[in-house]
Amino acid sequence: MPLFGRRRRPRTSRCQRCKAKIKVKTKGPVPKYCSAACKQESYVRRRFRSLPLKLVERDLASIELRDVIWTTIMDILVQQGLVKSSLPPPVRLERKPKKPNLRLINNHDDPEGNNGLG
Ligand SMILES: [Zn+2]
Repeated sequence: MPLFGRRRRPRTSRCQRCKAKIKVKTKGPVPKYCSAACKQESYVRRRFRSLPLKLVERDLASIELRDVIWTTIMDILVQQGLVKSSLPPPVRLERKPKKPNLRLINNHDDPEGNNGLG
């Protein structure tokens, strides 16, 4: 254990982002990053790490709000006798487009149609 509980100053350090070796100066704070670019990159990663989660939370909140608005509007319309029930109108099913019929075509490179086996 060093004297007076002070840790010995390391001579080298490793960049917290790219793990490059950094020479530690005799004075001043021990550097955490090898360059300003690594420091910036690390900050940006910390700052925006939870961004996708925040966007999902915002989406869910807007979906819930839309549901509340929809329910409120439908309740009023039912009360006023403008619609019969608060259920959403039935979905009209579109007919599926007809699939094109498959047909054999003539292979000009193989007029006999034997896949080059004959
Ligand atoms: Zn670095």
